[in-house]
Amino acid sequence: MQLHVLGSAAGGGVPQWNCGCKNCTAARAHRLPQRTQASLAASADGKAWVLFNVTTDIRAQLAADPLLAPRSARETPLGAIFLTDANVDHCAGLLDFRQAGELAIYSTQAVRETLLRNEIFAPLGRAPRVWHIIGDEPVDVCELRISVVPVKGLLPSYAGGTATPGAASAFLVEDRRGARALYAPIFAAVDEKFASVADRCDAAFFDGSFWSDGEMISLGLGTRTATMMGHQPVAGPGGSLEALRACPCPRRLYTHVNNTNPMLDPASSEAKQLADAGFEVATDGAVIELPEKVRARA
Ligand SMILES: [Zn+2]
Ligand SMILES: [Zn+2]
Repeated sequence: MQLHVLGSAAGGGVPQWNCGCKNCTAARAHRLPQRTQASLAASADGKAWVLFNVTTDIRAQLAADPLLAPRSARETPLGAIFLTDANVDHCAGLLDFRQAGELAIYSTQAVRETLLRNEIFAPLGRAPRVWHIIGDEPVDVCELRISVVPVKGLLPSYAGGTATPGAASAFLVEDRRGARALYAPIFAAVDEKFASVADRCDAAFFDGSFWSDGEMISLGLGTRTATMMGHQPVAGPGGSLEALRACPCPRRLYTHVNNTNPMLDPASSEAKQLADAGFEVATDGAVIELPEKVRARA
């Protein structure tokens, strides 16, 4: 299985157009890597690809990846699109697929209902496009088996912001050779079931939006905590780092990282804490091949 990290930032990217925070300023000056909004592509054979979340950066992300380019006059290697939730920053890129003939979208019923209620997305729910509901049963697509891993989450604020079943999901991706990956760019809490899925994966991506719960407030950039926005903070008691510290998955990566998160600076003490715990911060353009080749012993 191949995994391509198309983008690794939360909504707004790094730098965000209207943000002058420390990380955005450094990224603008290329002292830190620039990041587009989080999206992942997965493939069993390098030919047919499944996309997880589509942001407003999708056009540039596809253009930057030769394996995702059309191979004939009107074609795409993208076989399906999976949506973890209905947040604008995870779905707005669907509008870039309005030229598509056939298009297969998969999400929970809650996400489908929320998005198709909006007339701007409605054509994506009509033939020849198909918007499948993914529930308890896994889906076989592009030689991959994909299952929903339910996570605690909220509907987007435009849809009421309530805690609703199916509002947010993670996806378990398996190939026939037994490689397993987890994509979980948004969750409000790591529960036992979620942790047990992560434990059995070869690579896992976790919600790295905010380092601390009150990050946006303490920087004067917002009025809501991470929790109020449906994101479990990374650090602190009750943070995801503590909950996942013992997870034996060999590649544990934080993605969907907000530009305010201090762990984006590799020189920060926060980045050091992550590295010491065996976690990585995903970067745009990163490629992971599973199963990973056994590294030579030092
Ligand atoms: Zn987001
Ligand atoms: Zn910023």
